Amino acid sequence: MKSDVIVIGGGLGGLACARDLARAGTDVIVVEARARVGGRVEGMKFDDGRVLQMGGEIVGTVHHGYRELAAELGLEIVPSYTEEPGAYGYDMLEGAHIGDDWLAGEDLSALDRLDEELLRIAADVDPADPWSHPDAARLDNLSVGALLRSLEPSWLAYRLCEAGALSSAHGTLERGSVLAWARAAAAVGGVLNTDFDQWENLKVKGGSSVLVDALEAELSGRIRFNAPVAAIHVGAPCTVTLVSGEVLQADAVVCALPVGPLRRVAITGLSTARLQSLHRQRQALASKGVTVLDEPVWRRVGWNGLAVSEHQIGGFWVQGESALSSLLGPEKRGYIDAAPPGTLTQGLIDSLERLCGGPVEPQAVLWRHWGTDPYTLGYVTLWEPGDLMAVGPLHGTHEPPFYVAGSDHWAAGYMEGAVRTGRDAARAILGQPRPSLFVE
Ligand SMILES: Cc1cc2nc3c(=O)[nH]c(=O)nc-3n(C[C@H](O)[C@H](O)[C@H](O)COP(=O)(O)OP(=O)(O)OC[C@H]3O[C@@H](n4cnc5c(N)ncnc54)[C@H](O)[C@@H]3O)c2cc1C
Repeated sequence: MKSDVIVIGGGLGGLACARDLARAGTDVIVVEARARVGGRVEGMKFDDGRVLQMGGEIVGTVHHGYRELAAELGLEIVPSYTEEPGAYGYDMLEGAHIGDDWLAGEDLSALDRLDEELLRIAADVDPADPWSHPDAARLDNLSVGALLRSLEPSWLAYRLCEAGALSSAHGTLERGSVLAWARAAAAVGGVLNTDFDQWENLKVKGGSSVLVDALEAELSGRIRFNAPVAAIHVGAPCTVTLVSGEVLQADAVVCALPVGPLRRVAITGLSTARLQSLHRQRQALASKGVTVLDEPVWRRVGWNGLAVSEHQIGGFWVQGESALSSLLGPEKRGYIDAAPPGTLTQGLIDSLERLCGGPVEPQAVLWRHWGTDPYTLGYVTLWEPGDLMAVGPLHGTHEPPFYVAGSDHWAAGYMEGAVRTGRDAARAILGQPRPSLFVE
């Protein structure tokens, strides 16, 4: 069987790419390992019928590519958790707090100084070519933790910042490259992803899986489910070999896999430099927990449902009227994986009870362990100190007839990255003008 284009991976990046190709009249098929599409965007139907988001959930004002696609699909964008009234929560080792009253001015100003310093650096970083920054190697090798320490923060300010980093599950500040953080901010016109009011203030009405459903509907008949790919040969024609042994042919392939599973696919016919670059990228490992409640318990104490935690669970944010989302980052995963069943859920409930100041009895706590799922093997792209220089300028670029799509091939990950890179790959294949992948 031969197609014009085979898109490997039916996540948001692959689907966005395939949709544009199909609409342009291309004979395209999507080859997907799982029995469902969406990848790291996954809606899970709860007993009461509501759909809970177990993966990618929120977008923001700065995510123009995603919002544009949602509009094309006729989907409504609504405010996210940032609209929830109340004060921020802190689940610290000495006890929980709601609001900032317990913090000294110096604790908060140190965090502002870090933001200012990162934005100052970002102003000189070209997101399309961070490698050309005159101080690129030093900034890439510098950890965000080291940068913060150089600003002489109070110990509490440092702990808060570290708790925030671990709560977003990218990993500790020691594992964040300053150049990569600055590049992510530059990618959206100079806004740090810790600015939740611009990065996380919106969502698709009904949940992000609604957008995936809409893409799937448009691609009806073009998706091969339960078809994990074992090998790709890039040539004329390109061949894609499934784990089942079946061989598919196409003029071009779009590799829309997360970088972890991509390492498990045998690829021939590509330049060594490209393969080394692709294989050098890594992802943070994480799990997501969704707590289903009878009522919005956070409102009891004037908490807005958003919290960082120094305990087992990363933190919380409001997913819906009676549901809270949480992330469990890479540094906390290992010992939890080895703990007896129930430990993780109990840890989450303990955290919630500290913040709410009393008993909390959830209907359910649902877990999705993305870090150990064979078709994700991670969570979001992780740029440790030195990684950006090691991956190099081939990051996110194509080597026709081999194209890449997916959030790991964008400066900042996110669903925005999946959509932007997916549509960019389609335009490259179609020979259409390709607007910048970044906000200018
Ligand atoms: C817990 C969690 C929370 C997140 N929260 C947010 C958020 O709030 N906002 C946001 O913008 N982003 C968020 N993200 C990130 C966002 O969801 C992802 O960056 C984005 O959805 C990735 O899309 P993708 O198409 O690049 O990759 P994926 O969605 O991973 O798609 C890749 C596809 O490839 C398939 N595949 C894998 N191996 C093979 C193989 N061998 N053969 C064939 N197919 C294969 C997979 O099954 C999958 O369908 C979150 C991610 C996670 C995991």
